[in-house]
Amino acid sequence: MDKKYLEEIEPGFSPLTIVEEASRCLLCLDAPCSKACPAGTNPDRFIRSVRFRNFKGAAEIVRENNALGAICARVCPTEKYCQKGCSRSGIDRPIDIGRIQRYITDFEENTKMKILASGKRNGKSVGIVGSGPAGLEAAYMLNKLGYDVTIYDKEKVAGGMLNFIPEYRLPNRVVVNEIKRLKDLGIKFELGVSVGVDLPLNELKSRHNAVILGVGYSYGKMLPAFEGNRNVILAVDLLKKIKARKGNVKLPENILVIGGGDVAMDVNTSLKLLDVNHVTDVVYEKFSEFKASKKELEGAQALGVTIIDGYVPEKVKGKTVTFKHREIDATIKVKADKIILAVGQRPDVTGLGVELVKGEVNEGTPYVTKDPKVFVAGDIANSKYDKTVVGSVRTGKEVALKVDEAIRSGRAK
Ligand SMILES: Cc1cc2nc3c(=O)[nH]c(=O)nc-3n(C[C@H](O)[C@H](O)[C@H](O)COP(=O)(O)OP(=O)(O)OC[C@H]3O[C@@H](n4cnc5c(N)ncnc54)[C@H](O)[C@@H]3O)c2cc1C
Ligand code: SF4
Repeated sequence: MDKKYLEEIEPGFSPLTIVEEASRCLLCLDAPCSKACPAGTNPDRFIRSVRFRNFKGAAEIVRENNALGAICARVCPTEKYCQKGCSRSGIDRPIDIGRIQRYITDFEENTKMKILASGKRNGKSVGIVGSGPAGLEAAYMLNKLGYDVTIYDKEKVAGGMLNFIPEYRLPNRVVVNEIKRLKDLGIKFELGVSVGVDLPLNELKSRHNAVILGVGYSYGKMLPAFEGNRNVILAVDLLKKIKARKGNVKLPENILVIGGGDVAMDVNTSLKLLDVNHVTDVVYEKFSEFKASKKELEGAQALGVTIIDGYVPEKVKGKTVTFKHREIDATIKVKADKIILAVGQRPDVTGLGVELVKGEVNEGTPYVTKDPKVFVAGDIANSKYDKTVVGSVRTGKEVALKVDEAIRSGRAK
């Protein structure tokens, strides 16, 4: 297999180029970059440290507010957050904050720094269902507040959807290292346990003073016309398999992808980096309405993915899909060896005692449920934050404070 899938697609900085990049920073007094981070990270402060080559100090600043700082450095849509309002854009281009943070957290890892610390034990415990970014950040915060924390996950490997993000954007070692730091603090993981199925929620409630549900949008969506077709694979299932097997997956020569979001672009790019000859992506949206980020779309196109916009799948027969144009009277037929559906993800809260309204648990106030012992976080929470890693990190912090307050006030016992 070609190694392209396994190598980070974005080159990192060197000790010289990172200082050059940091020197472009205008050291703004009001620092719009720091106001825009959902995790509360302060790029203006860590960039100042980098300018003085104080990488240790910079790493300490990153970790003040984000236990998943090395992951966010790689996957954050920085163009929507810290880099969006960067004052340097007025001169030429924004500071590359994501890559600066990546260098700093790599430095932290390579020099074996131990920054995260536990708080004094308080004799109480919290169970967290789901080891995605929300569960991991909530676990860290609660551990720091003195709670014993156990994270339960139905998968045998911790990390939630971080394990779906392709290796060339988020190397598995980065996720493993972030989780190891949490394990070193005493946070426990019980993996391969589906709460509500293998382990009743009531049992979990009897083990802990409070329970947080951070079960995410863990499942891919199927379209009725494709149900039962042996040639169809859901995008998230394929991405998970490719990543778990380090790219060693047998793929046919000709693949059809359906969907136009970032997940579809991850599939497109992964397939091309794994040397699939023909990748055709048919998308409902027109190019002007695309959901995927421009960078991901252009990246996939540059690798040779054919993207056809404005078509809806109408009929499926074996390996052939007929699409109809949304506006004009036109149809196309695409035949492929495999069909990958990238049309969204869905949550499943069966057995967890909560209901979903438009895909979120919405009991009025964010993070709480009707049960005073049960809380929610991450993509399924009714919060004002985006369904992104950093959005989930933020909900993880906020839910931890809600849980602490409920336990200390005696509402959750
Ligand atoms: C392919 C892909 C690429 C993405 N790329 C990016 C990106 O570049 N940048 C970005 O910011 N965001 C990205 N995202 C979105 C991001 O990954 C999610 O917003 C984030 O992971 C949500 O975190 P979470 O903690 O809510 O849940 P998740 O990460 O979904 O984790 C939920 C966990 O709960 C577990 N679980 C579910 N039900 C049960 C149960 N009953 N019992 C026990 N465990 C259970 C699941 O196994 C899973 O491990 C991407 C998503 C995908 C699918
Ligand atoms: S907004 Fe840009 S220029 Fe200003 S402090 Fe932040 S990174 Fe530097």
